[in-house]
Amino acid sequence: CGIVGYIGPREAYPIIIEGLKRLEYRGYDSAGIALFDGKDLKVSKTKGKVVDLEAQVEREITTTGNVGIGHTRWATHGVPNDVNSHPHVSNSGNLVIIHNGIIENYESLKLELISRGYTFKSDTDTEVLVNLIEEIQKQDDLKLGKAVQLALNQVIGAYAIAVFDKNKPEEIVVARLGSPLAIGIGDNEEEFFIASDASPFLEYTKNAVYLEDEELAIIRFHKGIKIRKIKDDSLVETYVQELQLNLEQ
Ligand code: GLU
Repeated sequence: CGIVGYIGPREAYPIIIEGLKRLEYRGYDSAGIALFDGKDLKVSKTKGKVVDLEAQVEREITTTGNVGIGHTRWATHGVPNDVNSHPHVSNSGNLVIIHNGIIENYESLKLELISRGYTFKSDTDTEVLVNLIEEIQKQDDLKLGKAVQLALNQVIGAYAIAVFDKNKPEEIVVARLGSPLAIGIGDNEEEFFIASDASPFLEYTKNAVYLEDEELAIIRFHKGIKIRKIKDDSLVETYVQELQLNLEQ
């Protein structure tokens, strides 16, 4: 029930794992992380606590990197187990997603994707969404942000998501409807933090953008943030708030 992400010059892993610990209060049954190490996508996930994930990552992942996303799951579709934990990777192995919330019409979307040859490892609604994004992206050779936007227009439900493409790791796409999502902006827009609330990044930056419902943000390393309305694609002015030192914010 929490999401964390990082893109910038620092090691993403410690920021994400500490961030997940700060979000533990939200409640969860599983945790997971995806890191891009400059070459490969590394995914580690497990039922249990963030400390269990930490121990597993130490065993499984040797090279980490500067881009990543992490998740604590409160299962709604599919029992709590390792496979149903997030992140979820698309069939091609390129796209990786974390998601809080529910995709209510996932069954019909899943059947449609199965008829197009997609296979599913988990019982989650989330794995349907990442493959829907992939299918839409493939059909028209679209950019990730556009494909996410079109996919979300087919979705009924609630979400805070973060997704990236391992072939374009300088960009993370996030969106929200009904679940909170904050973006922390480092000095000179050199790094960006993503989280369900500001607590995972307060020690790094006091500047944050809170996404509103039905907004999607494309976050690009060195290039900044672009926010659009999911429904009509209109550009939204980025409103950067200066946070107080209050962890409750
Ligand atoms: N519906 C998703 C699942 O069951 C996300 C749950 C959550 O909000 O953590 O995997």
